[in-house]
Amino acid sequence: MIDAQIETALKLGRPNELMVYLHLPFCSTRCGYCDFYSETDVGEARIDATLRGILREAEWYKNIYPNAHVSSLYLGGGTPSLVPCKLLAPFLGRLARLFAPVNYGAAETSVDVFEWSFEANPESLDPEKLAVLAESGVNRLSLGIQSFEDRFLRALDRQADSSMVRQALEAVQQNGSFQLSLDLMTGLPGQSHVDVAADVHRVLSYAPQHISLYSLTVEQGTPLDRQINEGLVSLGAPSHRDNLWETAAALLRRHGYRQYEISNFCLPGKHARHNSGYWRGRPYIGLGPGAVGTLPLAVASSVVAAEVPAVAPAVNSSARAVRITNPGLLEYLRVMKSQDAPGSAHTLEYLSFQDLLLERFLLGLRTSEGVRLGVCAGEFGIDEAHLRAVLESWEGAPYLDRRSFAAGRAVLRRGGRMLLDRLLPDFAVRLESLVIKSCVSKPGNK
Ligand code: SF4
Repeated sequence: MIDAQIETALKLGRPNELMVYLHLPFCSTRCGYCDFYSETDVGEARIDATLRGILREAEWYKNIYPNAHVSSLYLGGGTPSLVPCKLLAPFLGRLARLFAPVNYGAAETSVDVFEWSFEANPESLDPEKLAVLAESGVNRLSLGIQSFEDRFLRALDRQADSSMVRQALEAVQQNGSFQLSLDLMTGLPGQSHVDVAADVHRVLSYAPQHISLYSLTVEQGTPLDRQINEGLVSLGAPSHRDNLWETAAALLRRHGYRQYEISNFCLPGKHARHNSGYWRGRPYIGLGPGAVGTLPLAVASSVVAAEVPAVAPAVNSSARAVRITNPGLLEYLRVMKSQDAPGSAHTLEYLSFQDLLLERFLLGLRTSEGVRLGVCAGEFGIDEAHLRAVLESWEGAPYLDRRSFAAGRAVLRRGGRMLLDRLLPDFAVRLESLVIKSCVSKPGNK
């Protein structure tokens, strides 16, 4: 069914190494700017049913990849910290048995061995829940703070107020078991440079190892979007908002945080291993309602074989990887409660050589590590000199770091990374012509 020759030539990802993303799509209320998939007003019974479904899906994958080394497990949402302790403890225990290395938790809890991240919001995090997380082996906590100012938290319709934010952070410090990542937002309605600096200094006072810094993006059709359209709220000029973000970024840099990705800063050696894996094109599975996974076809072939035939589309000859998407909560629960194979809930989309190559650059160029040209050329079976020529002719070439380029890496200087969205269309066109050339020069390498 799958072209074995191409499979061998591309060798995308590492069949024996996987990352696991687990999506818990529950939120207590909806934040005013967010249109991310999640459900509100979900009771304990439904949360319990979802966790059972996720464990069934996890076991299904485990049977397919019994020997895969899982390097990271990321529980995101939604708001995973909404799960009550009595459900959370057994759920995390089962996940640890399925995915954590042997002896993890007893002899070893280092993120270098197994990074286990958990997303939380301040209003649903207390000492008892933190103890459950630590005892289960979670070693990295990602906390959605956004701001320490009540007026901004209210403008965003965040559930937590500033005192809840501080209480949660103090509880995390007292527990002391986790590497801490904080989400901070700039560009909030009415925010000044002084406000941004005050928020950054409060964040720094908790000495998190990692900070994700975002400029507020208001999704269309959300309550905040409507307020803006009705003239009730103003976000200010885009240049002002860019400057606010830059004020925060400069302060973080001055305090020793390295900007290793457009929106992510860390103390030396404390980068997020799981997210870095996405940016490097590592294979990952997605568990839970709305979750997405991407596996190179060499790895995904066993999933495809395990799919219900009526659901799995035929693998076409240009496919090199498969993106596997789970349905929303109701359909997910229906399949997981039925006798059907968990894979029958999945929607498959095959990704071509060109899709993957573009994605590798699209993600890699966001990072300070960039894209290793020799490795990339080897994986994709293309000539490194051609790849270099594409980069040299690209609109973004003036922003390439010349020393890194000479050493075999495509890395954008910071100013270029911030312009990446604008520069990418031209890159996509040039990469397409390279792919066409590669196909012509190497029959069978589509
Ligand atoms: S908690 Fe996160 S996922 Fe939930 S509504 Fe707010 S921003 Fe969206």
